[in-house]
Amino acid sequence: MRQQFLPFALPDLDGEEFREIEETLRSGWVTTGPKTKKFEAEFGAVVGAKHAIAVNSCTAAMHLALDAIGLKRGDEVITTPYTFAATAEVIRYFDARPVFVDVEPRTLNINPALIERAVTGRTKAVMPVHIAGLPADIDAVHAVAAHHGIPVIEDAAHAFPSIYKGRMIGALSEITCFSFYATKTITTGEGGMICTENEALAERCRIMALHGISKDAWKRYTAEGSWYYEIIAPGYKYNMTDVAAAMGLAQLRKAGRMYERRKAIALKYNEAFSSVGETQVPADSGDAQHAWHLYMLRLNLDRLRIDRARFMEELKNRNIGASVHFIPLHIHPYYRETFGYRESDLPVAHREYMREVSLPIFSRMSDEDVESVVDAVTAIVAEHRR
Ligand SMILES: *Cc1c(COP(=O)(O)O)cnc(C)c1O
Repeated sequence: MRQQFLPFALPDLDGEEFREIEETLRSGWVTTGPKTKKFEAEFGAVVGAKHAIAVNSCTAAMHLALDAIGLKRGDEVITTPYTFAATAEVIRYFDARPVFVDVEPRTLNINPALIERAVTGRTKAVMPVHIAGLPADIDAVHAVAAHHGIPVIEDAAHAFPSIYKGRMIGALSEITCFSFYATKTITTGEGGMICTENEALAERCRIMALHGISKDAWKRYTAEGSWYYEIIAPGYKYNMTDVAAAMGLAQLRKAGRMYERRKAIALKYNEAFSSVGETQVPADSGDAQHAWHLYMLRLNLDRLRIDRARFMEELKNRNIGASVHFIPLHIHPYYRETFGYRESDLPVAHREYMREVSLPIFSRMSDEDVESVVDAVTAIVAEHRR
């Protein structure tokens, strides 16, 4: 058993981030400025998006995206319950209604076949999530959305770098939102990116990210700018700082290496667990690139004498940090009480949540760390199989 606790996630930061951040601090420009512009340009180029707008979280990105498509009170947005709080709370910011449709059991991504039935005259958007970094079936989602003339906004918080049918996630839908939160595949501490091919949507997001001011406000105090600006709407304060963007630039340079390491860890886990009847390894897809933000193992509880809670406890006792993704949104008190959801309304999401365990997968893990996770899972299963 390992002596030291293995955390569930750790950012991969070294001299490159320190140097970029120090340069930024020495420049005296610490809020939105040249590093943010550069980060936007470089991230946009990597995912192939025409417009990339850096903000201070993915939550902010999704809020701005829904504002840009003109979401209004009483509108409906179709999304998945198998996600983090942020995906649906941004819909509630508008007093609009999140309409949850169930997930595919294999991938845990939104089930496109169920979207059609959930469309009403009030549906204004569909928001798929690429859970763990495995691309959702975007073509199928687009087919339904296009049929009804509804925009698709992707919650791509897990999906960098993910590839769907040969194209990076980032330029496939009306708007794609990324997260650079501390645990995500690249981090700026807190941060997010809005990607779109649509000039008007991009312009609206840029303006609303900074007080509804109708020009590049960061230029206001420099020689090439002027003192004049106009407020065209009550906007928000969602801009990314250059300190964060500096970190992002360094992370972006090593994103490929970090991805390769996570993939190698996932393959090791798959190799170790695919023959273990008490577990189900996460779905992958031949023609898609899984970003491996999460490694979502599922327990075949009928073959075990313990439940998921006990399994988590056993991992902790063996000094392994693990997590659960996600407690489906529809079973949280707020969504139950506000919309009357019951567990059984989204049976697949609930059933799969009950048996899910996320194992550590981050690029700083050593081979010994990975081995210790494999050993712990194997030992727990051996001890508690029926
Ligand atoms: C992390 C996460 C978010 C929110 O990202 P922030 O940058 O923390 O706002 C949104 N959706 C999903 C699925 C996430 O995991």
